Amino acid sequence: MPTVAELTTRELPNWCPACGDFNLLFAIKNALAELNLPREQVLLVSGIGCGSKTPHFVSTYGFEGLHGRGIPVATGAKLANPELTVITVSGDGDTYGIGANHLLHTMRRNMDITVIVQDNAVYGLTKGQYSPTTRKGFKSPSSPHGALEEPLNPLALGIITGATYVARGYAYEIQHLIKLIRDGITHKGFSLIDVFQPCSTYNKVNDIAWYKKNTYKLEAEGHDPSNKAKALEKAMEWDEGRVPIGLFYKEDGKLSYDQEATHGHAVVKDDISNVDISKMLAKAK
Ligand code: SF4
Repeated sequence: MPTVAELTTRELPNWCPACGDFNLLFAIKNALAELNLPREQVLLVSGIGCGSKTPHFVSTYGFEGLHGRGIPVATGAKLANPELTVITVSGDGDTYGIGANHLLHTMRRNMDITVIVQDNAVYGLTKGQYSPTTRKGFKSPSSPHGALEEPLNPLALGIITGATYVARGYAYEIQHLIKLIRDGITHKGFSLIDVFQPCSTYNKVNDIAWYKKNTYKLEAEGHDPSNKAKALEKAMEWDEGRVPIGLFYKEDGKLSYDQEATHGHAVVKDDISNVDISKMLAKAK
């Protein structure tokens, strides 16, 4: 079973110093090592963005897709081989903006995949434009007078849309984050893990000091994640010094789409050596 060192590829990230992507990468590798999953049974999928390079740095199967399209790739892989552990990792712009439609419907289906979102509230790769989770009033190259839009609330969206594991971690609360990722991966059903992380280059508001001052852990206050109404109430909380991180909602026992669609049958393992495709090839000419 792989160690963290064995899960590390020879490629090196070129993220900015203090970027939260480093800590999340560390947390993902540690969670996988703790779970003792064989590397060939794990697929890490991403879209486009600074953090979407993550699959290059983890020695499992990996796929870096198109902008916003990590989730459909993950869905296809899970349906073809339900034995795979499938994880996506992409930014807030990629997942909540460009790929939002995929996110909504995959949560609704309760697909058994884990979606990790590097939520730094800006588009880092394309030079700091405001993103779906940027707070109103934030000044950026695309909002020099302050963003006019209210931010999306991904956790509330997950809870009401059908995700059965909804959590938020913080890249500088490493042990807490590793546990959230580990539990999200083992959860049977759709897991949404939003990860607060600083973009040290383009987000000068939500920096390490801001997160330290404003976040608190749900677990420290005895939150019951099986209580959906309470989970939604906590997802809506965003006051000075009172922004929760932790496990908001968990629902066990609900069938996932892949369970219902495949009944555990992995079509990738079917023997196709005797399948005659000559007619199909002839038609294609
Ligand atoms: Fe990280 Fe922001 Fe730099 Fe991108 S621009 S690597 S998100 S700090």
